[in-house]
Amino acid sequence: MNTMKIIEDIHIHTNVSKDSKQDPEAYVKEAIERKLQYLGFSDHLDLDPLDKDYEYYRYEDARSDFEFLSGKYGKEINLLFGVEVTFQTGLEKSILENTENKGYDYMIGSVHRLEGFTIAGTSGIPYFEGKDEKTAYTAYFEEMKRMVGFNYFPIVGHFDVIKRFGVNFYGKFDAYKYESIIREIFRMLVKQGNVIELNSSGLRQPPKEPYPSAEVLKMYAEEGGTEVVIGSDAHTLKQFGQGLPETILYAQKIFDFNVVVFIKGMKISLGKISEFVNTY
Ligand SMILES: [Zn+2]
Ligand SMILES: [Zn+2]
Repeated sequence: MNTMKIIEDIHIHTNVSKDSKQDPEAYVKEAIERKLQYLGFSDHLDLDPLDKDYEYYRYEDARSDFEFLSGKYGKEINLLFGVEVTFQTGLEKSILENTENKGYDYMIGSVHRLEGFTIAGTSGIPYFEGKDEKTAYTAYFEEMKRMVGFNYFPIVGHFDVIKRFGVNFYGKFDAYKYESIIREIFRMLVKQGNVIELNSSGLRQPPKEPYPSAEVLKMYAEEGGTEVVIGSDAHTLKQFGQGLPETILYAQKIFDFNVVVFIKGMKISLGKISEFVNTY
């Protein structure tokens, strides 16, 4: 039997994200109950004026909620102020202007949009219609490569989220078809000291496997990637922490990754996955 210590969840959404109505305090209380050491808020920052979620994020509200909760619970848990930024080629300047000097502990960079479709959400499903798999997925990884090349985000979110709805069109995601670009991205990412995220949300979504898949994690390790952060990408309290034990065990079979966290932009090592899993 395995027991698992979940040390961190750095990917959660609250009511300052358009797609969540969750009051942030409920997460904090639950995280303390579950004895997490680090809880990071990572609401969506979407800067494409054509995106329906554009300008929804309210920095001041996110900040003041965070300050309030830190004051109230800071002795019981380490709370972190993060943000999940939607990267899009052409928006680099706006991303810099909207995130510099904002006091974020960390930033997760995610590719959510392609050709005007929010491919990581149900509204983006038409992106796949009439497209062959290679075209649909290659465009995603090309955008991911540009994001990592931008070298601004210490954390890459849900590395293969293109499969979220892609699996409904093309079946199980086969990372080996995109091996050369995936490895190229990882070489760049590792050299820059960035990390990827073990994101459990794919387990509750159509792929029924974490982001990234086992094959992708293997490539990451083979290209020298040793560090990960852990997140459930919860948009509700019910989703909070869902699938994390399975995701961590899944990753451990591939490589004994080092779990890290970012505090005021500094990367801190929390220990190897195996240290959090007790098998008896
Ligand atoms: Zn995301
Ligand atoms: Zn998210």
